[in-house]
Amino acid sequence: MRNLQRLAAIALLAGLAASAAVSAPAASHRGPARVTGSRLKHAGAEPQNWLAVGHDYGDTRFSPLASVNDRNVAGLHLAWYYDLDTHRGQEATPVVVDGVMYTTSAWSKVQALDAATGKLLWKFDPEVPGRTAINACCDVVNRGVAVWDGRVYVATLDGRLIALDARTGKPDWSVLTVDPKLPYTITGAPLAAHGLIVIGNAGSEYGVRGYVSAYDAATGHLTWRFYTVPGDPAKGPENGALARAAKSWPPGWWKSGGGATVWNSFSYDPDLDLIYFGTGNVQPWARRLASGEPADSLFSASIVAVHAATGEYAWHYQETPGDMWDYDATQTLTLATLPIDGKPRRVILQASKNGYFYVIDRETGQLVSANNYVPVNWARGIDRETGRPIVNPEAQYARTGKLWVGEPGPSGGHNWQAMSFSPVTGLVYIPAQEMPFPYLADHDFEPETLATNMGLDQATTSLPADPKAQAQALAGLKGYLLAWNPVTQRAAWRAPHVGPWNGGTLATRGNLVFQGTAAGDFEAFRASDGRKLWSAPAQTGIIAAPMTYEVAGRQYVTVLAGWGGVFPLVAGALSFKSGHVVNRSRVLTFALDGTARLPPAVAPAQGVMAPPSAHVEPALAAEGAKQYARRCGSCHGDGAVSGGLVPDLRFSPALSNEALWNAVINEGALESHGMVSFKSVLDAHEQAAVRAYLIERAQESDAARRR
Ligand code: CA
Repeated sequence: MRNLQRLAAIALLAGLAASAAVSAPAASHRGPARVTGSRLKHAGAEPQNWLAVGHDYGDTRFSPLASVNDRNVAGLHLAWYYDLDTHRGQEATPVVVDGVMYTTSAWSKVQALDAATGKLLWKFDPEVPGRTAINACCDVVNRGVAVWDGRVYVATLDGRLIALDARTGKPDWSVLTVDPKLPYTITGAPLAAHGLIVIGNAGSEYGVRGYVSAYDAATGHLTWRFYTVPGDPAKGPENGALARAAKSWPPGWWKSGGGATVWNSFSYDPDLDLIYFGTGNVQPWARRLASGEPADSLFSASIVAVHAATGEYAWHYQETPGDMWDYDATQTLTLATLPIDGKPRRVILQASKNGYFYVIDRETGQLVSANNYVPVNWARGIDRETGRPIVNPEAQYARTGKLWVGEPGPSGGHNWQAMSFSPVTGLVYIPAQEMPFPYLADHDFEPETLATNMGLDQATTSLPADPKAQAQALAGLKGYLLAWNPVTQRAAWRAPHVGPWNGGTLATRGNLVFQGTAAGDFEAFRASDGRKLWSAPAQTGIIAAPMTYEVAGRQYVTVLAGWGGVFPLVAGALSFKSGHVVNRSRVLTFALDGTARLPPAVAPAQGVMAPPSAHVEPALAAEGAKQYARRCGSCHGDGAVSGGLVPDLRFSPALSNEALWNAVINEGALESHGMVSFKSVLDAHEQAAVRAYLIERAQESDAARRR
């Protein structure tokens, strides 16, 4: 904990130094950010800009810039960096409009920077209450802003949508988009289209009902809302689509919210005037279905299209009917026109969490083709006629009651880390991964607060203690950059990384693909054949997707660096497979002949606290292990090994200090950091058990280190 505090202090001082250096930004750099629907529709016509997180309405993340290209990329160097004042996962892609960069960072903070120099123009902190972190499954992250008509829009972790004046960073309006009594969060970037700001939310692992809302960009007035799952039938369906969807659910579904949250990105077709989004898993993952009950549960694990002006249902395509594996369909929805059977066809491309690459007609929602881009064992293929997966009955662990090692696991073959599409090579660049996962239903499961409500027997999901089994589990974790041909549905090439959970991708007309890695490198590959051409150290893991822009004729390539997200929070020692990195949150910007230098790197903190020598009762520690897995492990890490974002409890001074333990666990002394009081869900005996387990883990770790 001491080391993390030191890191926080360093990050804070660095941030203060950077802001102190800027007193009066040059007026010429203060672009008014008057982004319009027409500019976004023709984003390729102003290659110097990057007008939306996904570059354009089609979320292609392809730039027409080619000054930096496969012949000169070796000369790319750091041009400037900006230290962010948070030390959690950084998932945002910046937007650049006319020389000004707008980006979010962890805790939903917003920064406007001079895109040529990295100097801070303004920043905005929405002051998200620290306790909100307990409702976020997957780190206190944010994936970026939308910019429209002189305003910058951010959706905050606690569910607000805020319009900021692009000149000053001062709020023009703010609306609460969720019921604050329910565990909703927002981590996704809004979409600006049709004079509306469109935003979803997250919380399918906590029992909420998913929906998308559209607000008037100028006033913040709610224009429409589309629910992704039907609500309480006693209240009547909101529309005909939901009335039909209700027939696809088992009895009483609405009591657990339903899930199917729209927590990631959007795309938009201005010609069809359709907005596209993907929906999350059903809650809970492991549903105890009686045989013969309907299980499709629409519109979970689906791609949905709605009319932009009204939010009315247009079509849906469900990728994983009867999902039990957390196969959110929320990954990048790339719009492209591809030659299909000799004719150009307007399609949506998605490399789904469930391991299949889908090509969908974006006017009708009809399946064009699907093939698995990573190993898949839950289904044997996708039926072209019905569009439905041919599910492997053995994979339905909630029905069989048996353990199922699923491929992909809940981390997906591809997750929120954005993919990109180059119309030049015709290839899609996927941050692909293989992370098998043991699923076993918990048949005593009851949903409750202060725990993720997945319905899994969490003891089975831990890294096994046996070293041989551990080695096997680690060997099964893979990550690679995959170039995929969406027409032939075949891999073109792949570039392996050290482990999974790498960054999103950027493709450019310079025949380049950029990607940051979990191990802490920012890399460039030749888009046509995958040859690695360039690499620069980031001093931390990268999970965000890069972007590129031009100021005064000079091309820059930017990525947010900052290790985090669900993998280092949950996976404990497994997360070290990708590289044991610290979080150093920064905006890194590169250019040909750049001359900036990063300060010296900081090594991962080593625990310094001697383990308490207290005798531990094995039965009590075993009971504590179960409580830990249920209450603590989803932030502090499997096996009480922290992936580095939050304190490693094996070395917590609270283990040998009763008063400190009490202050943190019962009185919520660290609530502003996200550590709320667990008094309401852990009684004195259960707390003693957790503490015994942590002391046991500290002693085991200490012994292992001395060997
Ligand atoms: Ca999920």
